[in-house]
Formats: sequence, C-alpha cells, structure tokens
Amino acid sequence: MENAIEVSSLSKYFGEIRAVDGISFQVKKSELFGFLGPNGAGKTTTQRMLTGILKPNSGTIHIMGFDLFKHPSDAKMLMGVVPEMANPYIDLSAWDNLMLMGELYGVPKRKRKQKAMELLEIFSLQDRKNQKTKGFSKGMKQRLILAMALIHEPELLFLDEPTSGLDVQSARLIRNLVRELNSNDTTVFLTTHNIEEANQMCARVAIINSGKIAAIDRPENLRNTIQSLQSVEVTFAKAINDLESLQTIENVSEIRKEGDKLRLYTDKPGDVACQLVEYAKAHELQVLSLNTLGPSLEDVFVHLTDTKGEQNAS
Ligand code: ATP
Repeated sequence: MENAIEVSSLSKYFGEIRAVDGISFQVKKSELFGFLGPNGAGKTTTQRMLTGILKPNSGTIHIMGFDLFKHPSDAKMLMGVVPEMANPYIDLSAWDNLMLMGELYGVPKRKRKQKAMELLEIFSLQDRKNQKTKGFSKGMKQRLILAMALIHEPELLFLDEPTSGLDVQSARLIRNLVRELNSNDTTVFLTTHNIEEANQMCARVAIINSGKIAAIDRPENLRNTIQSLQSVEVTFAKAINDLESLQTIENVSEIRKEGDKLRLYTDKPGDVACQLVEYAKAHELQVLSLNTLGPSLEDVFVHLTDTKGEQNAS
C-alpha cells in the first residue's frame, strides 16, 4: 500500500451549496501534501470529512488502506488532527491536556507520560508544563495543540491552517516542527490558504476552488504550466510615476507596480529585458536590479481560481 489517503468522488452539500463537489485525489505515504484554496473553497469541509467528523453525501475515503466509513476506529487511530482554530482546555495545564488526549487515544499511562515529556521538550514547553493554558500566548497554545495531536504517534497528521494568525517566529517554529515530523516519515495533509507556506513546505499541492480540484502537482510544475505568466522585474534608482511611458516596450501584456519594483508580464522576457535597458538609457535612469521571473505559485493560484474554477482537472 503506497497511499496514505485515497479519496474518490467525494461530495458534501449544505442545502444548495456544493461545498465539496466530486473530488478525487491520493496522498502518498510520507508525503507533505498541501491543500490550498481561497476562502470558502471547501478546504475545511474536506478535512472534516477526511478526519471522520463530517459525513459526506457521496464518495469514498481510505486512510492507510482502511475504509473510513467501514473501519472508522482503525483509521482514526492512525491520525493526528489539528482542526482550524482549535484550543486546549484552558483550565488544565499543558501536562494535563497532554494526559487527557493520551487517555482518549488509549495510550498506556507509562507510555503517555514518556511521550508527553518528550513532546514538551521538542515544543519548548517544558517550563510551562504545570501552568494552566489560560495564560498561554497564541503561539504556545498552537504548539501545545500540535503536541496533543502527536501523543499517540500518528502516522498521518492533518493540519488546518496551523500558522494562521501567528507571529513570524511562532509560524516558522511550527513549520520547522512539521517539516521535521515529515522527514521522520509522518504523512502530512496541510490545509492552508497561505500560498507561500504551501510553496515552501509541500512536495505536492492540490488547488481547490468552488468545491472542485483545479490542479494537483508539485509547486514547480504548477508554476511551469503557465508560460504566459513569465515576467521581468526591474528596479530603477528613481521611482517612475508615469507608467504610460513604459507602454512603448513591446510584447508586454501587463505592467504592475510592486513596492519599489515594476513587473512586466511577457512571453518574451529576454526581449523585454533588452528593451528595458534601452528605456533606462533613453530616460537617464539607473537600473538597480533586473530579473526575469517564472510565474509564482500565487500567479498560478490566481490564474486557476479566477478562470478555471469551474473545470475539474485531476
Ligand atoms: P476558509 O478558508 O474560509 O475556512 P474553506 O475553504 O475552509 O474556507 P469551507 O469552510 O469548507 O471552506 O466552506 C465551503 C462552503 O461550504 C462555503 O460556502 C461555506 O459557507 C459552506 N459551509 C461550510 N460549512 C457549512 C455548514 N455547516 N452549513 C452550511 N454551509 C457550510
């Protein structure tokens, strides 16, 4: 068995709303898989079905070979789940939260104590072991939630927006911990609307839009699919306020101002770069930087979710 997750023709409707509309995909064992989509795309609904919280209208889900609906306990024992906006029990200490979760998963007492100590250390929470989580910062709570999801040593970890609302350091810490778990063979299903997070972390990404899968591939392959989104990025020593004067540059489909940079979209980046150098000479502008760029994952995401949302690629 190669796949950790196998989803086939999965649908969930809420009245008229097709929250998830016949999606199919597989996640390989030991893969860090990203599930990316805009608000309301159906990400959380999908994760809730995959973790057995929500019953689909139709379709099948296999977790490590177990049919989730026929063998729910077997499948759920293999999962660790960090739901969206989860909280530990605030009147319990970090330690008691971990013990409670271990008990719920039937981890023997000695084993859960040993694992809890280990997790508190990995997640830099050992100093807070006996403090009620009421006073924890958001970053500390999120680390504890992740530790709680790992108390029974799951093979498959579901994370719904694990870094949402965290400061840069806390988010980075969580990402590093997730990467490390994955490098030790834990399969990770990461739901996120953070494109850069998916780009940095995931071996493969599914882009979901309006309940359908718009694309599934490695981030790099997704970027390569759209050659028309190549661009040239230029920074001049002096800001150009009059973008009109750049219209003389040929083969440019769009010009965007991004901070102190200008980005010119083209399918002939080499040609446009040469023209920009000529333009700089003619206008006595100093070029500080000039780069040709392939499309970013954000470009691909916008392209797919703007124009291809109604199609269902697999
Ligand atoms: P976000 O990033 O905003 O969390 P999402 O991609 O996770 O979005 P879902 O929460 O799965 O999206 O919602 C998909 C669609 O289903 C939305 O239109 C939402 O309003 C609807 N929906 C989700 N849960 C329910 C529910 N319990 N009852 C009715 N409609 C729902």
